[in-house]
Amino acid sequence: MSALTKLTLKGALDGLAAKDFTSVELTRAHIDAVEAARGLNAYILETPEQALDMAAASDERRAKGEAGPLDGAPLGVKDLFCTKGVRTTACSKILENFVPAYESTVTSNLWRDGAVMLGKLNLDQFAMGSSNETSYFGPVTNPWRAKDSNKALTPGGSSGGSAAAVAADLCLGATATDTGGSIRQPAAFTGTVGIKPTYGRCSRWGVVAFASSLDQAGPIAKTVEDAALLLNSMAGHDPKDSTSLDVATPDFTQFVGKSVKGLRIGVPKEYRVDGMPAEIQKLWDDGVAWLKEAGCEIVEISLPHTKYALPAYYIVAPAEASSNLARYDGMRYGLREEGANLAEIYENTRASGFGDEVKRRILIGTYVLSAGYYDAYYLKALKVRRRIAEDFDNAWTKVDAILTPTAPSAAFGLGENSSDPIAMYLNDVFTVTTNLAGLPGLSLPAGLDANGLPLGLQIIGKPLDEGTVFSVAGAIEKAAGFTAKADKWW
Ligand code: GLN
Repeated sequence: MSALTKLTLKGALDGLAAKDFTSVELTRAHIDAVEAARGLNAYILETPEQALDMAAASDERRAKGEAGPLDGAPLGVKDLFCTKGVRTTACSKILENFVPAYESTVTSNLWRDGAVMLGKLNLDQFAMGSSNETSYFGPVTNPWRAKDSNKALTPGGSSGGSAAAVAADLCLGATATDTGGSIRQPAAFTGTVGIKPTYGRCSRWGVVAFASSLDQAGPIAKTVEDAALLLNSMAGHDPKDSTSLDVATPDFTQFVGKSVKGLRIGVPKEYRVDGMPAEIQKLWDDGVAWLKEAGCEIVEISLPHTKYALPAYYIVAPAEASSNLARYDGMRYGLREEGANLAEIYENTRASGFGDEVKRRILIGTYVLSAGYYDAYYLKALKVRRRIAEDFDNAWTKVDAILTPTAPSAAFGLGENSSDPIAMYLNDVFTVTTNLAGLPGLSLPAGLDANGLPLGLQIIGKPLDEGTVFSVAGAIEKAAGFTAKADKWW
């Protein structure tokens, strides 16, 4: 495959600016790579003609000196972002044939800045899952394999297609979303960088809703700098989303490479969970040592309500999902199954259109919101959520950012956890807290385990302080020197 797909986003943009190659050439190389990698199942819809049209238009803009910040860069789009005239399914049967009449704000921003769309990427159905196995279109296979093994591994979820596509050089970067960890855990499982920004930084408009008070869009990229470049374009105030923050978007790339000397980095003792593999503890210790060396002060902190985060998340998220997904009734969007009367049409449509995990969430959500249980579950979970946010507020009086592992394990085998929802939910133990508190969190690859699989470290920042997160991530990226790639077998 052409060397053009091996470039980072920054490298490709520099090459385009230097006229080393055209966007059409760069895009063509990616289209070929995507076609050759169908076995990974990362893309569920390829849009090569549209990509080449966009690339040709980009080359024309560049020739006229009108290139935008991402001009000519081919990207993948998680199939949760509505794309005008291009099928958007949320990887569900109920939206199998849904073609939006509008474009999400985040993707519009990317096209405004000149990016090229290669196609739509696989995900867990309605972004519910941690392994991409709940997708109606089948799971994605992680490009990474353990040493001396052919076993198919999960790329994580829900943004499994985005992470696998970036890791396998099937795009220069991808959009993703994170409700409880869906950008960061897949990034950790695939040796890529992913950031969930502060809640409200990126518009949710045109993104298929899962749990609206937790959902945030963000990029998955090959490097910290690439993630900053993508977030620059994706972020920004949007009057069409009432929770979008009316704040300026700084140039996040300016923070990458900035000195972290004197920063206070918190290490939360409650994140040393039982049963965490020694290799992950070691990676975390390495991260601490790298940051110390770079001049940071390491502070042990306490986030005492951490153990209640997962239970609270698995009440709040399904509650909101049950309400959001009520709109799929066979009347306005997507699938309609026939029935003798209206109630039967609803029942038949939802029974056949939703997958098992989605049904489980709707049932849990409806239960915790129902009269008599609302106070005991939903209201209680909201109170826990408040306590978790306060834990972080207290931490910010002592530290500037927090360092944790991203996930409690490396990528696991496809099918390994799919029969045990609780085991699957435990994947999010280190990531859900930031969604509950609305904080930015970034995962970057920092090492390999004994089986040669990538492991991620997470940096959590203060609200709207993605800048510091990027600086700390840049320092770790430099110290870790992580350059490993999955051996190409697909
Ligand atoms: N794995 C979590 C869940 O299943 C988070 C998913 C996400 O962030 N979209 O809910």
